[in-house]
Amino acid sequence: MARRKKIYEGKAKILYEGPEPGTIVQYFKDDATAFNAEKKDVIDGKGVLNNRLSEFFMTGLTQIGIPNHFIRRLNMREQLVRNCEIVPLEVIVRNYAAGSMSKRLGIAEGTQLPRPIVEYCYKDDSLGDPLVTEEHIAAFGWASQQDMEDILSLALRVNDFMSGVMLAVGIRLVDFKIEIGRVYEGDYQRLIVADEISPDSCRLWDIETGQKLDKDVFRRDLGSLTDAYSEVARRLGVLPGNNVTKPTLIN
Ligand code: UDP
Repeated sequence: MARRKKIYEGKAKILYEGPEPGTIVQYFKDDATAFNAEKKDVIDGKGVLNNRLSEFFMTGLTQIGIPNHFIRRLNMREQLVRNCEIVPLEVIVRNYAAGSMSKRLGIAEGTQLPRPIVEYCYKDDSLGDPLVTEEHIAAFGWASQQDMEDILSLALRVNDFMSGVMLAVGIRLVDFKIEIGRVYEGDYQRLIVADEISPDSCRLWDIETGQKLDKDVFRRDLGSLTDAYSEVARRLGVLPGNNVTKPTLIN
C-alpha cells in the first residue's frame, strides 16, 4: 500500500493527507525542540503521550461546545483532524507570569496576574515568533476584527476549561499556547482550535510542590520529560499504570 502523502513536517508533528476530503492525519513525533530549535533531542514516548493528552483535552473542549479540529484518534501516534487554514498567530494565555513575559516585564515567575492576559505572536520561526499587537494583525490582514473577537473568546474559554481540569488534579495552569484554524462551511467561515494542546505547549506546575510538569523540564534540564508528561497523563486518568513510560508502538 502506498504511503500517505506528507503535507508538512514540523518540529514535533507530521501532517499527512487524510483518508477523506477535508481531513488530515496528525502524527506526533518524539522530537523535542526548544529555543527555536537550537536545543533538540528525541524523547522516547513523548509523541504517544502528547497524542493521548491532546485527544483528551480536545474531546473535553468538544463536550463543552468549544469547536476544535479533533475528529478521532487513529493509533498510538496519530489522530484524524479537520483540515483548516492556520491563522498565522500563536495565541498565548497567561494566568501567572513565567517565561518570556517574566523576562520582558521583570515580573517574578509564578506571580499571579490580575486577570488572564492574552498575547499574540506572529508565527514565523525565522523571526523567532515575535510578539505582535492587534494593530499589526489588522494592518497586515492576518485576521479580521471579527476574527480577533472570536479568537479572544475561544482563548479565554479554553483557559477556563484547562484551568479547571488541571486544578482538579492538583496542577496549576500557568500559561499555554493555542493555534486557531479557519474552516469553510458553504459561504461561511468558522474559527476552531487546531494544532495540539499538550504539555509541550502549556506550563503546568504541581500546586503543592511547584514541580514543573511541562516542556520547561526539557528547556531547563530539570529531569525526565517523559516522567513529567506521564505524571500529567496519570493524574488525568488518560493512560493507566505502567503503560505510560514504555508504550507499545503500533507503527
Ligand atoms: N509556547 C509554545 N510554543 C511557542 C512559544 C510558546 O507552545 O513557540 C508556549 C509555552 O510552552 C508556554 C507559553 O506558550 O506555555 C508561553 O511561552 P513564553 O512566551 O513564555 O515563551 P518561552 O518562555 O517558552 O520561550
